[in-house]
Amino acid sequence: MQKLFLGIDLGATTVKTGCVSSEGKILSETKVSTEAHLGPNAVVQQIIKTVDSMFEQYGKDSFEAIGIGAPGIVNNGIVKAPPNISSWDEVNLQNEIHQITGIKVIVENDANCAALAEAKFGAGVHYKNFLFVIWGTGVGGGIILDRKIYHGPNGGAGEIGHTTIDFNGPECNCGNRGCIEAYIGQRYLSQRTKELLQKSNVQSKIIELIEGDFNKIEPHVISLAAEQGDTIAIEILSEAGTLLGYALSNVSNILDLETVIIGGGISAAPQFVYDAITTSLQSRVLKPHRPNIQVLRAKLGNSAGIIGAASLVI
Ligand SMILES: [Zn+2]
Repeated sequence: MQKLFLGIDLGATTVKTGCVSSEGKILSETKVSTEAHLGPNAVVQQIIKTVDSMFEQYGKDSFEAIGIGAPGIVNNGIVKAPPNISSWDEVNLQNEIHQITGIKVIVENDANCAALAEAKFGAGVHYKNFLFVIWGTGVGGGIILDRKIYHGPNGGAGEIGHTTIDFNGPECNCGNRGCIEAYIGQRYLSQRTKELLQKSNVQSKIIELIEGDFNKIEPHVISLAAEQGDTIAIEILSEAGTLLGYALSNVSNILDLETVIIGGGISAAPQFVYDAITTSLQSRVLKPHRPNIQVLRAKLGNSAGIIGAASLVI
């Protein structure tokens, strides 16, 4: 009988659960609302709903183990203060799900899961060591060393988004100043685009695409405008790429990492953004590393959450 694995991508709005083969292929998936506003017990019940529906479909005995990717810091199966889930301080999700299902469970931070998915089945299969970056609403990341996730003593390693690139810079969600996320996270990027458009007299495709409604500025719109040759969009994304490259160089210099894989919503950006990241990263790493620096596009896209969670146990 084929061995099957459950990959659970726990998000603040949706729980997505997939039945995954040992080759990292999603055979089927299901999703339910997280019910995050009702607190941890409700969230656990929602997770179990998806698990039960997979058990019904394939038979419980078909499953070897369950992997769960969760937001927030995860250490030894304990999920600490995930953003946007109410009254969740510290919950041992690994134990709770194991006790209900009777199956082996491993829980890991979701960015680390996505990094592991790329290492096992995506853009990172040929690299033993790399830095993975999720660039979307925020900027997150994971470090793969010797094909394994590097956690750090408290499970908090890889938080590239809160690398300071200017100590006097704009305020970030985390309360600090000048974090890379405060320049290139979705909200900040949209805000900056709005400001540039408002003070610029140049015609921009972005205005057409958003039908004049500045609240509709999102990274994929900026990306689309850039692909159509819009100069403002190109300027914004090139600058974002350049800034990200500076942040990445700090990590590369410390950990001697030559490969960076970019995933998340903005990873579909045009090639010139990757070129901007590569150029600025190369300019800031120590000379001997420069020729080997490479920035790659993640391969798994939206599936990275489920495949990443399942990768924990495959
Ligand atoms: Zn920050």
